[in-house]
Order: sequence, then C-alpha cells, then structure tokens
Amino acid sequence: MFAFKSCYYWAVNKPENRNVTVFGLGRSGLASIRYLKRLGFDIFVSDAAPENKVPDTVREELKKLSVECEFGGHTQKCLAKAKLCIVSPGMAPNLPIIVTARERGIEVVSDIEFAFRRASEAKMPIVAVTGTNGKSTTTALISHILSSSGLCAPYCGNIGVPILEVLTEAEEGKKVDFLVAEVSSYQLEYCTDFAPKVGVWLNLTPDHLDWHQGLEPYIKAKQKLFYKQGMSSFAVLNYDDPIVISTTTMAEIFPFSQKSELENCIQGAYVSDNFICLRRNMQVHVLCRVDQLKIKGAHNVENALAAASCALLLGVDSKAIASALQSFTALEHRLEFIDTIDGIEFFNDSKATNTESTIKALEAFGDQKVVLIAGGKDKGTSLTDLANRVRQCTSAVILIGEAADRFNLNFTQAGVQNIYRVATLDAAVKLALELKLGPVVLSPACASFDMFRDYEERGHVFKNIVRAKQKELASQAK
Ligand code: ADP
Repeated sequence: MFAFKSCYYWAVNKPENRNVTVFGLGRSGLASIRYLKRLGFDIFVSDAAPENKVPDTVREELKKLSVECEFGGHTQKCLAKAKLCIVSPGMAPNLPIIVTARERGIEVVSDIEFAFRRASEAKMPIVAVTGTNGKSTTTALISHILSSSGLCAPYCGNIGVPILEVLTEAEEGKKVDFLVAEVSSYQLEYCTDFAPKVGVWLNLTPDHLDWHQGLEPYIKAKQKLFYKQGMSSFAVLNYDDPIVISTTTMAEIFPFSQKSELENCIQGAYVSDNFICLRRNMQVHVLCRVDQLKIKGAHNVENALAAASCALLLGVDSKAIASALQSFTALEHRLEFIDTIDGIEFFNDSKATNTESTIKALEAFGDQKVVLIAGGKDKGTSLTDLANRVRQCTSAVILIGEAADRFNLNFTQAGVQNIYRVATLDAAVKLALELKLGPVVLSPACASFDMFRDYEERGHVFKNIVRAKQKELASQAK
C-alpha cells in the first residue's frame, strides 16, 4: 500500500511507525493531512489557534478523516506517538515543542522536504526557487515558460497550491512534467535531503531575522537548497549577489547577472545592449529587449533572467522562452497596474512588505516621480536606504499604520519633502488624487497585520477603493 521504496526513515509496515504529527492547520498543513491519510498514516494535528477559530468545514473534514486534534497550543500529547512531525511554515525552530521533538529524536520536516522524498521516488523533477524577494514572480514565470512550451509544470509551494496537493494530482494520474515550487527559508530550515533538479537563488537581504535568530542561520537555511544537489542538477545563482554566488554545491552553476555580461563565465544569463541573453554550450541566445517584458523594473529583469535560465537548462527552445517572457504579466499585488483615474495611474504593490521591495518598486519608475503610499506594521529594519530612494524617487509620501512615526522621522531626517500622514487607505487615495503629483504606488515596506489580515487583504482593499473612486468620478463626468 505504501509507495515508499527506500523507506529509510521509517518502516511503514509497523503500525506504531505510522504516527505523524502535523503542526499547523494552514493550507499546507491541511494538504499534508489529506496526503498522509490517503497513504494510510495515523495523524495527530496540533494547532496554536483555539478550536473556535478553525472553520467548521475544516473541523468536519478532520473528524471524517479520524484525525486526532489538539487546539489552542501544543502539549506533550502531540509527541506521544509521533515518529515524524511535519511543520507548517511559520513555526520557529526554537519553539519549545519543536526543540523537545528533536531532543527525542523525532524527525521534524517541512511539507517541501516530505514532498521531495516522495517526488524523487517517482522520478518527478522539482524546480525550486528561493530568495528574499521575487520568489513568487519567478516561480510563476518559470511555470509560464514551461507551460507555454507544452510542458505540464504547475507552480506550487508557498505560492498558490501546496506542493502535496499537486503531488496528489500527479500520483492520481495527472500528467506533471515538473513541479515548480516556491520555497521559503522557513521551509528550507526543516529540510535535510531536499535536492531539486534546478535550484534558483535570487537574492539575499536581511529578513525574518527574529525567526531564524540572526543572519547566519537565515543564509544557511537558503543554502540548504543546494547542499544535497548532485552533478546532474543545476544551481541558478545571482552573480551580482556576493552571498548567493558563493554557494557551495555539486550542481552545475548557471549564473545570471544584470550588471555584467559574465565574460569570465563559460555560461550564464545577462543583459547586453538592453537585450536579455543566454549563453550555453558556446552558443548565445538573444531573447528579447528588456522593455518588451510586461513586468516593470530592474528587479523583474533579474527574475526574467533567472526564469529564462531555468527554462533553457530544462531544454526549452530559446524562441519559446523569448515569446513566453513577453506574454507574462505581473502577479496580483506585485506592482500590479490597477487603473487610471483622472490621468493618474494607480499601482498595487502590497506584497512589498520590506524596504528592499519598496526600493525596487520606486526604481521601476525610472525618472518618473511617484506618490508613495507606505507604512503598516513596522519590521524595525534600517530605513536609511529606503529614505534616500524615497527622497530621489517620490513627489510625495503618504504614511499609514503603526510605522508612520518612525518612517516620518527617518524620511524627514533624510530630507524627504511632502510627507503626509493619514489614518486609512481610503484617505490616502483621496489625498493622492488631490495632490496629482504623479503615479500612485501602494508599496508599504511593512507587514500589514496592524490594519489588515494579510498583504492580500490590504491589496484588495486598495484596489477596491481605487476602482470605486474611478467609477464615482466616471459617473460624475457623465
Ligand atoms: P516573494 O515571493 O519573494 O515575496 P514576489 O515575487 O512576490 O516575491 O515579489 C514581492 C515584492 O518583491 C514585489 O512587490 C517586488 O517589489 C519585490 N521584488 C520582486 N522581485 C524582486 C527581486 N528580484 N529583487 C528584489 N525585489 C524584488
């Protein structure tokens, strides 16, 4: 009944070894439960949220699946029988229950690690993308290029559908050529054997440092993408990022760069004379001009270089890569164009939850100065670089949320003019329309939890406000 052939970490024919504890009832936790149940495992689920916060449909499903549950915290009960724990992203390794599990010799893995073990037995290759920023865009773009050339390569992981959901479909008979997975440092932290066919590392800047307890562990978690790769795998690495390019791996390294034409490298992806180019096997493939990409900004050129590299390494024809690069549009909440009101363009970049992302968004507008709406739940990172960019690239700044005080102070000290503070996004849109000082970009450089459930809710609220204003003004004009 079990498809594990190697079964190096448990003997599934022993009933006592079929006990798995799943921590967290998020999307990936639920997918893990369904997947494991299908294989006949006995599941215990432990979630920090109180039972009344769990949707009825989920509770009913758990009951139907005969899953033992505990809510409102993790007690020793959840480890009593466990031979393996699958953790949802977000659970820090220093949480007492995780520490205890490890002390007792119980293996603790992420869904990505578990999926890899299964996928590798089924010889299903995984393309995995990591980085501080640009993961979702690049993952979706790789999937788009591969799909445009006739391959079945759904994207999954942190973006969209959990990897075990896609794997279930594949195991149930759906044709899948590649799993294209966005992989966060949280998931990598709980990986041991993970070895994708192609691993992509876009960039690294300080983020999630509380969770990882410092920069070094954060870097180490990212590097786990490449540790176990073999010689027939590929590591697509950002040549412009000194930490990323110094990765040690057995895989064949394919660098990409925006800053150099990689003259010292035998192969790689680069920009030459404004054209995106790939060099491999002594052949140069000129794909398309940078301005033919529909996704805005230098950061997206980086993402395009990485995605095109992946596709070439997986055997996609360069013409197909070029055409797919030009048909890909921005993902929702990533510098997404919303509408034009009274000649003013509005963009939703709610996904920019750190300062680097907001800097990239500002730079994407070139010489055109924008009205920036920023602020939210402060991450407490340095604002020096952001403040300097804001001074150069904005005509006005509208601050919202808990971070408004610190942002105001830092921006003022950096010489930023025209700083406004408002209480709501609604007021911010209204003010931006009155100011009429250029395109308006919501790019908060902050998390959203002070005012919204998550960045997606923040983005949707913003889009709804802009669209409502557009309608209101259009009907007044009639
Ligand atoms: P992630 O999944 O890593 O959060 P996304 O593709 O969702 O990345 O983009 C999130 C934000 O990061 C975007 O709003 C954009 O401003 C910024 N961004 C995207 N790609 C890059 C990149 N290659 N380098 C730096 N910032 C980027």
